Amino acid sequence: MKTKNLLLVALAAVSMACGEQKAEEPAVEAKTTKFPNGVTYEIFVQSFNDTDGDGIGDFNGVTEKLDYIKDLGVSAIWFMPIMPSPSYHKYDVTDYKAVHPDYGTMEDFKRLLDEAHKRDIKIIIDLIINHTSDEHPWFLEAKKGPDNPYRDYYVWAQKDTIQDYLNKKTITLDSDNIRQWHDPGQGDQFYYGFFVGDMPDLNFDNPKVREEVYELGRFWLEDIGIDGLRMDAAKHIFPDERATDNHAFWKEFRDEMVKIKPDVYIVGEVYDNLDVVAPYLPGLPALFDFDFHYTLLGAFNESDGMKLVKRHQEILDFYAEISDDFVDATLLSNHDQNRILTDLGGDIRKGKVAAAVLFTMPGAPYIYYGEEIGMLGKKPDPNIREPFLWDIKEKDSGRTTWIEPVNTTDETVTPLALQIQDDQSIYNVYKQLIALRNDNAVLVHGELIAVDTQSDKSVMALERKLGNESWLIFHQIGDQSSTFTLPQGYEDHSEEVWKHAGATISDGQVTLPPFSTLILKK
Ligand code: CA
Repeated sequence: MKTKNLLLVALAAVSMACGEQKAEEPAVEAKTTKFPNGVTYEIFVQSFNDTDGDGIGDFNGVTEKLDYIKDLGVSAIWFMPIMPSPSYHKYDVTDYKAVHPDYGTMEDFKRLLDEAHKRDIKIIIDLIINHTSDEHPWFLEAKKGPDNPYRDYYVWAQKDTIQDYLNKKTITLDSDNIRQWHDPGQGDQFYYGFFVGDMPDLNFDNPKVREEVYELGRFWLEDIGIDGLRMDAAKHIFPDERATDNHAFWKEFRDEMVKIKPDVYIVGEVYDNLDVVAPYLPGLPALFDFDFHYTLLGAFNESDGMKLVKRHQEILDFYAEISDDFVDATLLSNHDQNRILTDLGGDIRKGKVAAAVLFTMPGAPYIYYGEEIGMLGKKPDPNIREPFLWDIKEKDSGRTTWIEPVNTTDETVTPLALQIQDDQSIYNVYKQLIALRNDNAVLVHGELIAVDTQSDKSVMALERKLGNESWLIFHQIGDQSSTFTLPQGYEDHSEEVWKHAGATISDGQVTLPPFSTLILKK
């Protein structure tokens, strides 16, 4: 969930991830560049596109933009929570088998699903099972007293047995709230809520709760027909000290979902260090790679081109030892972090080269709506989730108005309609790179090899290798120009595949102006 995390950027070690490439397999054609290896687009419906004029984005608004999403090269959409909830972000659910009326009806959602499937776009929804809203009927019942049949759906303790824990929760990457036990104001029993008091944690020691949760999965996968689930707060199902119970739960969850839908896609949010994350792979075969996000920012801040290449190799190696069947869900940022362009100082040149890095590295990239037009966003959370700018204000009938944006405005971000006309816009950089990736399995499944250019520290150099195919990729992540000879062993990589910001190769000499990219092949 993480609507209020304070991410200590100190985590060179935070992580997740992992790759699926096996360099020795030559069958390039057999490896799909589509879902789940393609690009997934994360949408906050609230801010996306409004079709009924109430200022709030809606399902019909997404349906209306499916052609845009398809044209961008996206193979799946992940929806942030769409269920009824008292909060704008909807990470505290009151009804798991319905959709929020602000977004439309279930019929509207089903139409969206059908239209997406017609375009070969998969649909993944956020399913929040760690906790419910404190207004969920289960909790309203549970609060009535120890004898209520729903009491054990939640976790309760006598106040005098938890005195030592009342105000002592460790601050974690995904929660800065120190209270985990909360007083319902009805006596001496407190309930557990990892994030906050209005999000009571469900009790997964209770088999009935597990059955309820599996039924929710069945409902969405079978009755509604979605393709996959994004599992929120996956490491908090049981408290931190019960990690092995968490791992076991997710294996059980995956088994149950596979029974319902054999090809179900499950992507998990485990916000922690590499060694904490890795054991989740058997139950959560796709995991978000937050390490990629942090390391990329570190690389830009330090103008250290090879930092991300080295770190990513470590992560891929680490995960390859645990599982050979996983999806490394890479990202520049999502709804829980400042928008990437803001963290890159608002420098659009950096935003473009960051995108080039994302799409030329291994993994299954997730992009956060609006990232492709260079939307800006700085916490608090609502301000990293501002309205998409489809057109200039006077002509933007779909623009949502539920929040007054402070980061992404007509003064700071060029709307999509204008960017489409501009070959050099960040939107067109995204579109070109996604197309390149979709058409070339080497960018998706190719082995990642670090390349030594003996040039400036700000040069990022990597090879992607799949079967007989070898691509040589250079990114300049510093505000400087670098010139160097093609590295030894790569003298025959002289064919330009894609380039940006004035990067050139001539007579074996590579020149990388500030924030440029050059992709070569044999
Ligand atoms: Ca609306």
